[in-house]
Amino acid sequence: MTDTVHVTDVVLFPNLYIDGEWRPGSTGDRFPVVDPSDGSTIAEFAVASEVDCDAAVEAAAAAFPAWSATAPRVRSEILRRAWEILTDEVDVFTEIMVRENGKSWPDAKAEASYATEFFRWFAEEAVRIPGEYRLSPAGDKHIIVTHHPIGVALLITPWNFPAAMATRKLAPALAAGCTTILKPASETPLTAAYVVDVLERSGVPKGVVNLITPKPVGPAVSRMLAHPAVRKLSFTGSTEVGRDLLKSSADRVINTSMELGGNAPLIVLPGADLDIAVEGAFLAKMRNGGSACTSANRFYVHESVHDAFVERMTERLAAMSVGPGLDRRNQLGALVSVKERDKVADLVDTAVAEGARIVTGGAKGERGAFYAATLLIDVAHGSTINATEIFGPVTAVVRFAEVDEAVSKANDSEFGLVAYVFGEERQAIQVGQRLDVGMVAINRGVISDPAAPFGGTKQSGLGREGSTEGILEFLETQYLAVTV
Ligand code: NAP
Repeated sequence: MTDTVHVTDVVLFPNLYIDGEWRPGSTGDRFPVVDPSDGSTIAEFAVASEVDCDAAVEAAAAAFPAWSATAPRVRSEILRRAWEILTDEVDVFTEIMVRENGKSWPDAKAEASYATEFFRWFAEEAVRIPGEYRLSPAGDKHIIVTHHPIGVALLITPWNFPAAMATRKLAPALAAGCTTILKPASETPLTAAYVVDVLERSGVPKGVVNLITPKPVGPAVSRMLAHPAVRKLSFTGSTEVGRDLLKSSADRVINTSMELGGNAPLIVLPGADLDIAVEGAFLAKMRNGGSACTSANRFYVHESVHDAFVERMTERLAAMSVGPGLDRRNQLGALVSVKERDKVADLVDTAVAEGARIVTGGAKGERGAFYAATLLIDVAHGSTINATEIFGPVTAVVRFAEVDEAVSKANDSEFGLVAYVFGEERQAIQVGQRLDVGMVAINRGVISDPAAPFGGTKQSGLGREGSTEGILEFLETQYLAVTV
């Protein structure tokens, strides 16, 4: 089991990838990768020691001069090949995520195609890096502005979107000409290993992409951030860990991009079309089983539509088939671990103790890390479940009377990643513009798109990923003054 993992006809090595080689860690230690739908061990992945982390940084540093000097068209074509391979192997990509993350087949397949698109998008951006040339207002010089790859980039990703969070960083970093060290979440290293394997098959030169899984993670990451070669940290994960990494990055003033936690409000205004609102709310809540930073977490529903919305949403949730993702008919998979499942169950119990009522769900599965699709009403604004990122399949509804009240409650959060507004279009847009968040979905439940800038305000992070902005996160601006 420790040597290889077979997924359909692809063989994966649960090892580190350093300087173009798959290697066991220098200590020989391994950690289990578990299928949360039944608790079985799928693989034992290599632990990276400090020696391995140093080797990854040094390989990335050694590869940087040649990779950053590689023609943009060549970098672009490598990324395009990665898109082609991942498109051909979509079922393999999907199955790996189903097995180690527990998500349903449709969720994993949707992630596979979202993740794959970052390679196509940034293959196109690699050859369009912008610059400027203009005469200064005094007429004494030409102002030439160019962009250069920052250098070695450390990329740290979470388990909830194990593919897309990796490709959303790798694709722009490689397009920009940076070399990389990818550190995936401990729960989901196989998806990362597969993406790296695809990049190797696409022609990425040795040292340009490295994969490490250190344990314990904190000291290893601090050590890498202290290494003079590391110039960029791009992190997606919890706000708590993000804050610590910002502090560690301060010592060497490392350029950071932070995609952190969310607590997305979803507002249903009076006059909203309930067919659209219920469909959108269902997608906004249940995409990835609720384990998404974009997941609608606080449902503010106007009293005039509250009862009808609750009834129809309850019907949708109660009809979901729950079970292992390898059975492709299941719509709701397992949470990533029993620990995460128990966190969700505790939040529901606390909500009930604080006055909420369960309309549907509220139960753990008998086996595996499953939790039923759940809807709670009479949830109080500011209660524990309302103030916490649930990260599971729980819809927590707060009733409101005045639109201003809904806006002020939606903004009453330390997070500002995304919001959803359902209502008559003009009013919904006006409400959306009053929300202090990085992204607003109007009358729709899915907002993520590789071509759009993804990111948040307040403690949801710094910087944007995807879009034309995503590549700038991996570039330094240089200005040349040339006498006329
Ligand atoms: P997490 O605990 O912060 O872990 C994220 C990554 O950071 C993992 O690779 C983890 O490694 C690593 N890590 C943990 N402690 C660290 C430390 N002291 N120093 C350096 N790295 C450390 O988050 P998670 O539970 O995996 O993911 C859920 C969170 O991610 C949620 O808050 C969610 O909102 C957020 N998220 C945000 C976005 C966005 O785009 N804004 C997208 C997806 C998820 P180990 O696994 O080895 O511990």
